[in-house]
Amino acid sequence: MRNSAHHPRIHWLINLPAYGHAVSIENTLALPCAARRLIEVFSPDDVRSAIAWAKEADLPLLPLGGGSNVVLPPVLEAGVLKVKDASVKVLADKRDSVLLRVGAGKNWHGLVKETLQNGYFGLENLALIPGLVGAAPVQNIGAYGKEFAEFVLAVHGVDLETAASQTLTADDCEFTYRSSVFKQRLQDRFLISAVDIRLSKTAQPNIDYPVLKTRLGEGSVSAQAVFDAVVAIRRERLPDPLQYPNAGSFFKNPIVSHQQLKILQDSEADLPVYPLARGKYKVSAAWLIERAGLRGFSCKAAAVSQQHALVLVTNGRAKQSDVIELAQHICDAVYDRFAVRLEAEPRIYD
Ligand code: FAD
Ligand code: NAP
Repeated sequence: MRNSAHHPRIHWLINLPAYGHAVSIENTLALPCAARRLIEVFSPDDVRSAIAWAKEADLPLLPLGGGSNVVLPPVLEAGVLKVKDASVKVLADKRDSVLLRVGAGKNWHGLVKETLQNGYFGLENLALIPGLVGAAPVQNIGAYGKEFAEFVLAVHGVDLETAASQTLTADDCEFTYRSSVFKQRLQDRFLISAVDIRLSKTAQPNIDYPVLKTRLGEGSVSAQAVFDAVVAIRRERLPDPLQYPNAGSFFKNPIVSHQQLKILQDSEADLPVYPLARGKYKVSAAWLIERAGLRGFSCKAAAVSQQHALVLVTNGRAKQSDVIELAQHICDAVYDRFAVRLEAEPRIYD
């Protein structure tokens, strides 16, 4: 992060009639959310000033990025911390690879585009994922057969309890499928300020993911062609949050045992199944929701997208409770029919 003359930019006191002095927090579900403060930080010292302020104000600090993987409440009794450092620095330039340090405030898709333009390959399957770089380690973002954990060497940040700067190795981050230590033990405890990633200077396009293979054919393709295909498929298949406010996939794909799978397959022979290690199987949450007859199902101002059964959309006037009620209905219906418990992917705040 830049150690500049910047000071944390604290967004003070917009007077919202319902909540008194507060700041409105943007999120892609377009839920109304007012926080006590929004504090934009540029450097670790800024974070330490914010910690001192929070202690004084007796409020917790909550890290947030672009608000694309959260279900926010009407009021957050907290100071929301947002990293504004969007720098990209080359730490090592080798014959075959490059090591980059990227500020947590950088737009993720912007990073994917720029690295490709510079001849640094690897991130192309992860194009068009909304949000900021600082959130990428949190749920180990993944799509089309690739995930963030394949590229990261270190995650830098500040421990919000001790105010100490820390660097975590990739192992320390405990990355798993759509999760990490930042969604578990270090949730709300560690503000990610930058990540170090290694990218290749040789393109090794990965089109194993069926929908990519169908679009691009079996022959050799460029990384740019993969990027273009991912962008095109996503634009066709996913509801645009600007038109249909949403947080992407609302549920994780459930992981089941061999025994559970057999029971499921006895009644649902066409269930899509992806074998994992150690006798576990990933099944498609979208398929379960669709088969339970819930595509398009609505609850107050929230609905299951007509376009994609895993995405819950709002009409722009929904409250958090509308989304939670709908999600609960889906979980219950899927459990009643298949005895499989769905788990929400976005963070649902109290
Ligand atoms: P936010 O939603 O603001 O925050 C998410 C979580 O990360 C919060 O718990 C927050 O506390 C934490 N966090 C954010 N920044 C920091 C920080 N600097 N330090 C510490 N903690 C932090 N996800 C995928 O994995 N794959 C996809 O293909 C995908 N597609 C999507 C498509 C759409 C249309 C949408 C709306 C979402 C999609 N998502 C996908 C989910 C989402 O885009 C990602 O999880 C993204 O990384 C969230 O980034 P954000 O900046 O918006 O984070
Ligand atoms: P899809 O191609 O319709 O596939 C449906 C599901 O099947 C996906 O969730 C995917 O799991 C799984 N799958 C398909 N082929 C697979 C394979 N060869 N090996 C293992 N798993 C396979 O998916 P989609 O909904 O259009 O999404 C496309 C990609 O973008 C997926 O990777 C998805 O995770 C990602 N995406 C994520 C979000 C989010 O918010 N998290 C939102 C939109 C899209 P995986 O999800 O594990 O890949």
